[in-house]
Amino acid sequence: MSPEKRPVDPDTASVTGGHRPGEHLGSLKPPVYQTSTFVFETAEEGKRFFELVYALDEAEEGETPGYIYSRLDSPNARVAEARLAAWEGAEEALVFNSGMAAISTMLLTLLRPGHRLLHSSPIYGGTAKLLRTLFAELEVEVVAFGPETTGDDLERLAEEGDTRLILVETPANPTNDLFDIEAAARAAGSVGATLVVDNTFLSPVWQRPLEHGADIVVHSATKYLGGHSDLTAGAVCGSSEALEQIRHNRYRLGTTASPATAWLLGRSLETLRLRVEKQTDNATRIASFLAEHERVSAVRHLSLLSSDDPGFEIYKRQCRGPGAMISLEVVGGEEGAFVFLNSLEVVRLAVSLGGTESLASHPWTMSHSTLPAEAKLGLGVTPGLIRLSVGIESADDLIADLSGALDAIADR
Ligand code: PLP
Repeated sequence: MSPEKRPVDPDTASVTGGHRPGEHLGSLKPPVYQTSTFVFETAEEGKRFFELVYALDEAEEGETPGYIYSRLDSPNARVAEARLAAWEGAEEALVFNSGMAAISTMLLTLLRPGHRLLHSSPIYGGTAKLLRTLFAELEVEVVAFGPETTGDDLERLAEEGDTRLILVETPANPTNDLFDIEAAARAAGSVGATLVVDNTFLSPVWQRPLEHGADIVVHSATKYLGGHSDLTAGAVCGSSEALEQIRHNRYRLGTTASPATAWLLGRSLETLRLRVEKQTDNATRIASFLAEHERVSAVRHLSLLSSDDPGFEIYKRQCRGPGAMISLEVVGGEEGAFVFLNSLEVVRLAVSLGGTESLASHPWTMSHSTLPAEAKLGLGVTPGLIRLSVGIESADDLIADLSGALDAIADR
């Protein structure tokens, strides 16, 4: 039986989903359709494809729109979308050429001047900047809420203006703070707003926001979904109804992932669980090593949450695993952090995350450098903070590398 004919586990759908070899000369793997446009057999066929893609007519039972032009859609985009929809438990997914392309297309679809948007804070710096610049100029009222905000507080914030969208990034970048998706869904539901969750940090292997009441999930697919630091892509997942207008705006704005990018993404989703599980095992070992180290004053990894931590109950209810993002605070402030970063030999010094290789970065002077010092401190971003994305290398080699770099701080 073809995997498409019955609901299948994402572990199966991510390997075979969206591709029928018989439709591609028997090619086991999806070919890359490196073309900008598609030839119609007849003018009538072209007319019909446009009717379906631009929603001028309803599709007949079992009729799927054909291909027209790669800015609109491509066979490679559909493979990646089928696999990602299976991972997120969504009716549909849409792939974009970056996480910011996905987020901006979604926001431009759902917000208009005078609307209010609530967002969790801290949030990825690029998202914060987009909201505070372009969307503020478009007269969208942007309100941030921190991890201490209760469900009741959030409902009050939602009622105070014309709230149309709540955007939650959990765990938060770079602090690993957790936000309660179910509480945000209640607040959104009470005012008829859309709840969007950025699921980049845990990936659907460890967190499926739609199961907790989110309407839409967004991703920087550049990270765990792509998983090899060799592409930039983004995704939006949800019901066909929630995604319909976002799909049309993707056509209009031209933010669709290219065939080559979509191909890489579809291929990468086959190994998502294997990569993320190994990365998480490595990160869990590294986090307990760091927690015991005298030159590390604080470590944040979800495996270290204890029952008296405010995020513990949310973690138990919402997450299936702790993921592979660690933030650690080294002694000696920025100087200590720089000695540590400059001494690493296996872990690479770069921003981004979620790839097979381990990366370390310094949020104070890199991702959060444009914020004033007080704002950074308010978000928990200190001069000694290091963000570590743990890869699939040998955990022993990674621990030896981190240990050597921590020793270097003392030697100075
Ligand atoms: N969301 C999160 C949580 C991120 O970390 C990032 C990038 O780091 C983005 C969105 C933006 O994604 P991209 O860089 O693919 O545009």
